[in-house]
Amino acid sequence: DHGRPLALVTGANRGIGLEVVRQLVERGCDVLAGARDPAAGRRAATEIDPGGSRVSACPLDIADPASIAAAAAELTERYGRLDILVNNAAISYDPSARAITVDLDGVHTALETNLFGAWRLTQALLPLLRRSPHPRIVNVSSEGGSISQLTGGTPAYSVSKAALNALTRLLAGELREDRFLVNAICPGWTATDMGGGGGRPVAAGAASVVWAALLPDDGPTGGFFRDGRPLPW
Ligand code: NDP
Repeated sequence: DHGRPLALVTGANRGIGLEVVRQLVERGCDVLAGARDPAAGRRAATEIDPGGSRVSACPLDIADPASIAAAAAELTERYGRLDILVNNAAISYDPSARAITVDLDGVHTALETNLFGAWRLTQALLPLLRRSPHPRIVNVSSEGGSISQLTGGTPAYSVSKAALNALTRLLAGELREDRFLVNAICPGWTATDMGGGGGRPVAAGAASVVWAALLPDDGPTGGFFRDGRPLPW
C-alpha cells in the first residue's frame, strides 16, 4: 500500500494547473506542483497547502531537457514512484496567426513545449509511473486541436495540440497492457491568462482535467474528453 496517490502537475503555478493541484489535494492526492520559476512554484504550494505536507514545489521547465532529467532524478530518489502525470503546461495560443503566413520559428517553439515537453517528460517518468498500481497520464489538450474541426486560426497551437492528441493515442496503445489510462482532455474555454479573461470559471476547466486523473481502473484510455464526454478528434 502506497498511501495517498502521488501526482505531478506541470505549469502548476497559475491558471488551470494551479486549480488542478488544489482539486487533487481535495480529492486525497499528494501533489508535486511543477513550475519553471522555482519561486512561483513555492508560492503556489504554500498558497494551497500552508502546512507543506500535501503539496511540494517541483522546479520543472518542460522545454529544457536538463530540467526534466533533474526532476526525474529527484522524484526517483525521493518517492520512487508516481501515480498521476498531468501534462498541463502550454504556450502559444495564437488566434491572430494564419497557417499560410505564420512564423515557423514560433510554431517550432510551441511544439517544443506543448508536444516535445510533454513527450520528453512522459518518457522520463515512465519508470516511476510503472511502479504505480493505477498509473494515469492526462494530456491537457484543446478542442482547438480537433483535426476534424480545423478550418483556420491558432496554427501553432492547433498543430501542437493535434500532435499531442496523436501522442495520447500512441501512448494509450503502447501502455494498455500495463494498466495505464492515458487520455487527452480539453478544459473548455476557461478564464485564465491564456483564456484572455473570458470563459468559464477556472474550477470548471480544472475539474474536466481532474476527472481523467482520478479515473477508476475500468475507465477509458486513448480518448479525448471535455467534462467527461467524448470530443471528436
Ligand atoms: P496559462 O497561460 O494561464 O498557464 C500556463 C502555465 O503553463 C503557466 O503555469 C506557465 O508557467 C506554464 N508553462 C508554460 N511553459 C512552460 C514550460 N516550458 N515549463 C513549465 N511550465 C510552463 O494557461 P491555462 O492555465 O489557461 O492552460 C492550461 C492548459 O489548458 C494548457 O495546456 C492550455 O493549452 C489548455 N487549454 C486552456 C484553455 C483556456 O481557455 N484557458 C482552453 C483549452 C485548453 P509560467 O507562469 O512560468 O509562464
